[in-house]
Amino acid sequence: MRQRFSISLRLTLWFGVLLFLGWMLFGTLMWFNLQHTLTSERRGTLERRIDRLESLLVDNAERDPNQSFADFAHATGNGLVEIFDTGGQRAFPSPSTAASTFPWPTPVGPTRKSFQQIESGGQRYWVLAQPFLLSGHNYILCAAAPETGNQLVLDNFWRGLWISVPFFLLISSGAGYWISRRALRPVDLIAAKARSISILNLSERLPLSGTGDELERLAQTCNEMLGRLDAAVARIKQFTADASHELRGPLTFNRTAAEVALRNPELDPISRVAFEEIVAEAAKATTLLEDMLTLARADANSLAGALEPVDLAAIVAETCDVAQRIANERGLELSLSLHADISVIGDAASLRRLVWIVLDNAMKYTNAPGRITVKLHTHGHDAVFEVNDTGIGIAQSDLPHIFERFYRADRSRSEVEGSGLGLAIARWIVELHHAQFTVASVENVGTAFHISLPTIHPAPTIPEQCE
Ligand code: ADP
Repeated sequence: MRQRFSISLRLTLWFGVLLFLGWMLFGTLMWFNLQHTLTSERRGTLERRIDRLESLLVDNAERDPNQSFADFAHATGNGLVEIFDTGGQRAFPSPSTAASTFPWPTPVGPTRKSFQQIESGGQRYWVLAQPFLLSGHNYILCAAAPETGNQLVLDNFWRGLWISVPFFLLISSGAGYWISRRALRPVDLIAAKARSISILNLSERLPLSGTGDELERLAQTCNEMLGRLDAAVARIKQFTADASHELRGPLTFNRTAAEVALRNPELDPISRVAFEEIVAEAAKATTLLEDMLTLARADANSLAGALEPVDLAAIVAETCDVAQRIANERGLELSLSLHADISVIGDAASLRRLVWIVLDNAMKYTNAPGRITVKLHTHGHDAVFEVNDTGIGIAQSDLPHIFERFYRADRSRSEVEGSGLGLAIARWIVELHHAQFTVASVENVGTAFHISLPTIHPAPTIPEQCE
């Protein structure tokens, strides 16, 4: 199934989700830790206050405890401090109104220290109760402090977390995306290069980043595979070239022998027909072998570099002369519009073959009384060679394949003789000349081939009509 998101985006999303969860977990732990620290600190403050009160009462045991407590309450700003007896009654009432109206939790028994939270007037307080022995009597010293400050700190911490987490998440996800894009950039380069490699340029290799990482190892492995494919294809091409070459001799011998036999006037009619068929089939096989050899040479690039100035106008005119005769025989109308004096850099034999392949196809796939129009003119710095016919046309599904070797559209296969190699050779010649090849076709209406080659010099001349 096709992935909708790129690896970089998916990595970033995963990274973002994990980062968010990590931060929230860390923030929650920190929140609990802060709460614990603040509560302990509050407890410590209350313990110190009670310890001071204890020391004051013990140190001034001979004084009136009421007076000592009143002094203490006064000195601590009339804070929330109270002394209860074990029955829960105020032993020494505090002079502070806040303390006397405070809803102290009922102190139960002088057993052990307690630290608890209560709510009063919509506010929460921490209350510390601590047993205390003075002059043989058990008391409970109580001190309280509001939790407001702590809660404010905790609320601020939580709010800060919610504001900062998305902000940092955005920044780190952006940075993560950028880093992963950078890290995966070699993948795009490798993919682009791999896409451009076909059987025609198997000697090319994928780029190596030199980082020694997984991507480089993958590219290296693909390069080794390309190397093996290249060697295998080279062996097949060599075999095709050798086989075509070797078969040419016996085939020519058979054809010549049959032609010699046909010259015998005393040949009986049955043998004559048989020899004629041998000559015809040998001619077809020779053409096929020639085509295969041409393509084998094309694969070996043996013509590259042998290009020179060529009079394209003359080549087209000569080829059209031959085509004209065949067209006449087949009842086809060949209409020509050829500019003279158009030269290109190329290989004359190959260009003659290119012109012939396109013209021959137009004549093969057009039924009488069809019309074939051939044009040669210039367009800017290009020489344009066009062949339009009113023939059987090519189905849209066949169009992308007609330049493949041995490809023949079904209708052509049954109706017209051919090997399916002509356009493959034509394409190779076009590529050899850095030319452009386009074809447009409508079934049962006709086909238009359009080839444009760079000219040596712009040569706008008066058209020479030869119809
Ligand atoms: P072939 O030997 O079959 O002509 P080509 O390589 O020259 O081989 O052409 C490949 C196929 O393209 C043909 O078999 C035919 O189906 C189609 N084709 C080429 N030129 C024409 C045309 N002018 N009109 C219709 N079909 C064409």
